Amino acid sequence: MNKLVLNSESLNNVLENKTISHQEIIEIYQHAKKNPTELFSTAQSLRKKYKKETVTFSKKAFFNIINLCKDTCSYCTYKAEPGDVKLSLMSKKQILELLQLAKKYKCVEALFVTGEQPEQKYPEARAWLKKNGFKSTTEYLIHSSELALELGLFPHTNAGNLNFKEMKELKKTNVSMGIMLENVSERLTERGMPHYLAASKRPKTRLSILENSGKLKIPMTTGILVGIGETIEEIIDSIFAIKQLHEKYGNIQEVILQNFQPKQDTIMQNTPSADENYFKTVVALTRIIMPEMNIQIPPNLSPKSYQSFLSIGINDWGGISPLTPDFVNPEFSWPEISNVEKFSKSAGFNLKCRFPIYPEFFPFISKELRDKVSAIQNKEGFVNEEYWR
Ligand code: SF4
Repeated sequence: MNKLVLNSESLNNVLENKTISHQEIIEIYQHAKKNPTELFSTAQSLRKKYKKETVTFSKKAFFNIINLCKDTCSYCTYKAEPGDVKLSLMSKKQILELLQLAKKYKCVEALFVTGEQPEQKYPEARAWLKKNGFKSTTEYLIHSSELALELGLFPHTNAGNLNFKEMKELKKTNVSMGIMLENVSERLTERGMPHYLAASKRPKTRLSILENSGKLKIPMTTGILVGIGETIEEIIDSIFAIKQLHEKYGNIQEVILQNFQPKQDTIMQNTPSADENYFKTVVALTRIIMPEMNIQIPPNLSPKSYQSFLSIGINDWGGISPLTPDFVNPEFSWPEISNVEKFSKSAGFNLKCRFPIYPEFFPFISKELRDKVSAIQNKEGFVNEEYWR
């Protein structure tokens, strides 16, 4: 790494691997608001040091298993109500058919998503489970994950607040799992704030789920939603909370930074999108707080400028699907993988297809899962080119 010459003592300390305090991060942020150049170059320097010229993605199919949800976040359009056109209650047959199609499209990941504990609130969810022969959504997810593995896809489940026992069961088939922290701010759960009607997003609850994933040694994807009315202090607290969990358990495999985009027919429909300069500063701060972390932004949420994030510290594009929409952000279609590759190349990076588990976390999974990964991995631990192209 070329030695950077910086005016900021704090940023020089970051480059020298010295611990940096919360207060110093605030000062770096205040300075970056006027001139982000040094922050961005430091973030990029760390990104190159730890991730070299590689940028990754996961070739996935999105299984919208059930989008009934007992909570209501002010920004969400994923959640449906009974009778809605967008209601999804996938049958076993539909799941099997989509798995087969995903295989044809050479997908590697089966992303299983549900709303929060739908059967607790909706008789329709209970009837759906009964019809398909299951007692709970988790049982259904276990079945779906087993089926995915049998057909040669790797499950990654994101089903909200699962309990310890449920996560332990899903670990048998899921190479990794996901749950967004969103933000550690209690303030964002108060009346009039985005998580007021979402008990599952109480920071203590989310952190306890992540703690459980650590105890279970599950490679975990988590992240922060940026631009929902938080302060920069709350963002920094959230990044530090993830860092602390990772220092304690070592199981956080990646941090997603998702920029808020307003959706029609939601409480926050008139709230502006996350400002791009602010979002970029948050991305770069995350890199300097966690220099070795895998940091992802979803390219579809910054359709005109996603390639510019390659120069401020990210090293992953997340899951990109060649066949299913992003059901969480359906108005933002995923870019063509060939375009992502082209843009990455022109910025000086090589696009590689990863598993839903990053190579450094392979020791966390069972021998059975490890053997399945080994069968199609290359020397670097990414997916063999001929398998996914
Ligand atoms: S974001 Fe998740 S928890 Fe919140 S309403 Fe949507 S589906 Fe439910």
